[in-house]
Amino acid sequence: MHNDKHKAHSILSLTVQLGKSILLLRTYCTKCFKAPKPLYGDGGRRAKASTSIIVFYGLSEMLEVRINELAEEFGVHRNTIRNWIKAGILPAQKGPGRRYLLKWADYVALCERFGKRPRRLPETAKEEESKKSPYRLLPPSTPLYPDPSWADICLTCGACASACPISGVDGLDPRKVVRMAALGMDEELINSDWAWKCSLCAKCEESCPMKVEIVQLICRIRSLRPRDKIPGPLVRGITTCLEKGNNLGIPKEDFLALLKYLARELAEECPGFEVPIDVHGARLLVTINSKEPFAEPESLKYWWKIFYAVKESWTISSEYWEGVNWGFFSGNEEAMRAIVGRLVDNLHRLNCEALLLPESGHAYLATRLVLEQWFPEALNKFKIYSVFDLLMEYLNKGLLVLDAKRHPGLTTYHDSCNYGRRSLKILGRGYFEEGRIITQLCCPDFVDMQPNRNGNYCCGAGGGAWSSPYKAERIFHGRIKARQIKETQAKRVIVTCHQCRDQIKFFLNKEYELGVEVKYLWELVADSLVFDPS
Ligand code: SF4
Ligand code: SF4
Repeated sequence: MHNDKHKAHSILSLTVQLGKSILLLRTYCTKCFKAPKPLYGDGGRRAKASTSIIVFYGLSEMLEVRINELAEEFGVHRNTIRNWIKAGILPAQKGPGRRYLLKWADYVALCERFGKRPRRLPETAKEEESKKSPYRLLPPSTPLYPDPSWADICLTCGACASACPISGVDGLDPRKVVRMAALGMDEELINSDWAWKCSLCAKCEESCPMKVEIVQLICRIRSLRPRDKIPGPLVRGITTCLEKGNNLGIPKEDFLALLKYLARELAEECPGFEVPIDVHGARLLVTINSKEPFAEPESLKYWWKIFYAVKESWTISSEYWEGVNWGFFSGNEEAMRAIVGRLVDNLHRLNCEALLLPESGHAYLATRLVLEQWFPEALNKFKIYSVFDLLMEYLNKGLLVLDAKRHPGLTTYHDSCNYGRRSLKILGRGYFEEGRIITQLCCPDFVDMQPNRNGNYCCGAGGGAWSSPYKAERIFHGRIKARQIKETQAKRVIVTCHQCRDQIKFFLNKEYELGVEVKYLWELVADSLVFDPS
């Protein structure tokens, strides 16, 4: 594109580098250096390798070039260009990446020596765009680039990469993810397994001085992966849950038979105990993580014992009792909504007053988020408890009597990322103190890990990493958690999430020789209970 007078001439662009952005200032005819065109920016996207970029460094016009481009342009070997630079025949200095900075006058002199015309710049389409909308940044053009706050404000400082426990594993690095999104490299990001090796712990975000929404970006990358390419059993779990009511497809009859069997066992310790199934008008509707009836049914008794001791009015629904929500891991909002919708239906059907949210970090956050977004009337009508809320309410009402002598020895507490850091950011309230208060009532010999609370490190199994096929990465991720635990010299770790518990108890314990006992918070309370069965 050129004006009439200079139709036959080439065009070059003058740009200025602002941080990582190349801002196109003006376009000029290469012959006469006249005919300036209107101004516009290129949205931080670099020109393609085939186009030249002229940058003002100080007061000089400099051309950014690669050795191989110059060699090709002038028909000489790359080493010849290098030798010219070394010998000072071609004055050039090292620039960004593998580029060199060459004075425009030197470049033109080189062209004259080889009888070549200087390069033609810039792309005509951009010039047309510039006429329509001076100064306008080019619009976001990819699904991963819907909001400039995700990437354009990134300083490339690397704080996120330093904080991320799996930075460097298989090339994963949150800073790189942010830059690739900014550069429109959606396909590479979606096809990469990075998003699935990340535990969505938000440690990177917590360190980011610019508050770039790194986890939101990674969740979006996950959500754009075709369903049949999602690694591990996540999709199978969601499909099974939608079809059969729980992630593991446990049939209703088997579930009910198991509950009755466990209730008979507990009745030996708690006379008259029965599991209340589908009790209309019960105060509290309790959800269940399907992993418990499937893999560790004994753990169901912890809550039951507490309910027995405080004489709670509670019930379990015979259908759609699943508390976890794997839609959260794959960005499947429809599934998330369907699963939580069933819990809300149960609340209405059984005429309960309150819901005990699942005792798992992601499940709590996912359920609460869906309630806020799609079922606000349920939030108004029903009281919603997290495990912390319910235990603290019992304690504050004086319903729980705990024996602090049953758990001697130094004990520490692991902050779940979802209950803590992520809930604080997303819901405006993170659970940090409640777990510590309850733990110390049962284990007075207490020590905190460093760092803790909002700055805590992930166990490595969150965000669906527990269910992913990347076991080695997950265990490696947990090495900082293992070091934190070791440094406390504690003999016991209290956790509030199933995935944290299994990762620390079965994997970090073994891999890093921790030798610690790992207990759920409600298990600790159940084991510390003092109550009169009569
Ligand atoms: S910490 Fe934030 S600003 Fe720094 S590189 Fe990471 S995303 Fe960019
Ligand atoms: S693992 Fe945690 S720190 Fe690393 S990228 Fe994922 S959310 Fe960020």
